[in-house]
Amino acid sequence: MVLWNEGWNETIERNYYIWVIKGKNENIIVDTGTGITEAKKRKLKEYVNPVDVLTRIGVNGTNVKKVIITHVHFDHAGGIEMFPDAFPKAKFYLQKMELDFWTKDPVAKRAPFRGITDARANRKIASMAESDRLVIVDGDMKIAPGIELLLAPGHTTGLQAVAVNTEKGSAIVASDCAHIARSFTDDIPSCFITDIIAWMKSYDKLKSKVSNVDLIFPGHDVKMLTDYPKIAEDVTRLV
Ligand SMILES: [Zn+2]
Repeated sequence: MVLWNEGWNETIERNYYIWVIKGKNENIIVDTGTGITEAKKRKLKEYVNPVDVLTRIGVNGTNVKKVIITHVHFDHAGGIEMFPDAFPKAKFYLQKMELDFWTKDPVAKRAPFRGITDARANRKIASMAESDRLVIVDGDMKIAPGIELLLAPGHTTGLQAVAVNTEKGSAIVASDCAHIARSFTDDIPSCFITDIIAWMKSYDKLKSKVSNVDLIFPGHDVKMLTDYPKIAEDVTRLV
């Protein structure tokens, strides 16, 4: 599933992540993880409420003003079940194309799509779009000094990655623009495709923004947990 038409005999483990950009002035959360209801329904192994994990590194309702939603699959947007209440000062950033597809397009309710999203979360996102809690982004946008949202479609219609200026150079939280790091080095997307041509162009776009491909972080690679320094239970430092 994670590599297009390759490795049918291989077994691969996936982890489910959220990311935090710890800046000088603010914490920005990237993705909300899976909702507690959906996690139970899907029997996710070793699930922890992402809101609780964030408190382990001092990220809580008092100090978050921005939450970026990369795309509206259950494992990235489902936590919207808890996040608006847990982070009352936060605004949520989502691409217009992604919002429109999941909340307005009837195709999103058909088999290839409905199984990978969280209907409860999507209804909440649709209602937030009517309020000032949701910032609807249309294309690339700088949202803070050194932080830029990058439209990177392919996996979904309006997936956004996040470019971050770090001490090591420009890094990118790519989310599911690749499920594992090998997708970037071997130039292979996953089997979860909305538009494969757009996807290949998104690879080019993200790669052109970093000095080193190791600074692009994929959505589900176990290496992000095993190969980086641990700073709290279930939490590693990537850059
Ligand atoms: Zn995912």
